Amino acid sequence: MQHEKSRQLDERARRVLAGGVASEFRKSAQPLFYESGRGSRITDVDGNEYLDFTLSQGPLILGHSNPQVLQAVQEYSERGQLFAGQHLQELELAEKLHELIPCAELMRFSLSGSEADHTAIRLARATTGKEKFLRFEGHYHGWFDNVAIGVSAPDEAALGSRENPEKIRWTKGLPARIEEEMIVLPWNDLELLEQTVAAHQDEIAAIITEGVMCNNGCIPPRPGFLQGIRDLCDKYGIVFILDEVITGFRLGMGGAQKFYDIVPDLAIFGKAMASGYPISVLCGRRKMKGGKPLMELIEKGEVIHAGTMNSNNPSVAAALATVQVLEAENVHPRLFELGQSLMDKLREAAREANQPLLVQGLGPMFHTGFTDETEINDYRGTFAYDKAKLSHFIGAMHERGLRVIGRGLWYISAAHTEADIDEAANIAGEVLREMGSA
Ligand code: PMP
Repeated sequence: MQHEKSRQLDERARRVLAGGVASEFRKSAQPLFYESGRGSRITDVDGNEYLDFTLSQGPLILGHSNPQVLQAVQEYSERGQLFAGQHLQELELAEKLHELIPCAELMRFSLSGSEADHTAIRLARATTGKEKFLRFEGHYHGWFDNVAIGVSAPDEAALGSRENPEKIRWTKGLPARIEEEMIVLPWNDLELLEQTVAAHQDEIAAIITEGVMCNNGCIPPRPGFLQGIRDLCDKYGIVFILDEVITGFRLGMGGAQKFYDIVPDLAIFGKAMASGYPISVLCGRRKMKGGKPLMELIEKGEVIHAGTMNSNNPSVAAALATVQVLEAENVHPRLFELGQSLMDKLREAAREANQPLLVQGLGPMFHTGFTDETEINDYRGTFAYDKAKLSHFIGAMHERGLRVIGRGLWYISAAHTEADIDEAANIAGEVLREMGSA
């Protein structure tokens, strides 16, 4: 595969775009420029076509350039782009989400997951009058200051003890005492969580978690773990924030909360909700179980949420169309089926090639990594993965026209076919065999 045009454009880009990219996560050993995407395929400027399982980091649940979404965006944009006032489609979208998402009594739209996560933490502090929030190692809740600790670590030793982990900064430029704002814990350890929350109940405003840990590995919650968070939050008057930016519309129409039957106080949806258009939603209960006002504080303007571009016409149109297609075509059973089939085929290929490939996840999204472990349960566990081997695997598949997220995550879309799954498994198998004999 030849990447000369991308190479030249990258050289040009580095002169004007910091690092040549628009997001930290797009930096790569081989930065590519893309020209078009359709269905399950994406094409770069050198004319190379890839079978795409990155889905632009998750949003493209219907695949690239879904015709119904594009048509809705075009039709609605022709009537205007942004009214700085209310419009019918925004109301229809809110009513639809209210119907689909168990915790969505009241909601507000923003543009990105990061903004909505930020608002959720502000709101939890206002509701409870407490300042700290509890988050889990290796989870991702956007790139803002308040959540830029506990995201990653250079190695397992740097994380310190499980009971009192080091507060590792993800970026320079954070305020001096920001570590005091949060408690960080390993995920999926209910006993440790119970002890910690009991000891700090007077300080903790919120517990925030992904429904499935997808930003490092693809790790399902242990049975009872999410319910355990729900119980602790009820017991101590803590706001349960479920970050559904990845799980939303991917595990089903009601996100992880419907899938696992756990209703949080607040939830954030983004990504797959609008097929790549910028919109997110913070939704939640009007009041907490004990009667303290929650979303009601935003309703009354006591907690501020705002944004010039919020619920802009193209994004709302894209979200409405995406939700309509997902429902009308009953996409989710197919995502699980195709994902499960690809997971099985990858396991089989790895067995044949005698490679220790661990395939973990739910189907609509899953992770591949090289380790002798049979299960990974938290961020600390992910250090058992051989990162160099993974990047070789991903790089070699890419050279054969199969695009997977660099950290080993695969997303399935409604545009993928059984033939795509076979093609992906064959390419992965070829690479695994080649690695086995190397
Ligand atoms: N929460 C989770 C769970 C995410 O995966 C992401 C993005 N990867 C975010 C929040 C932030 O969303 P955005 O990139 O839209 O700001």
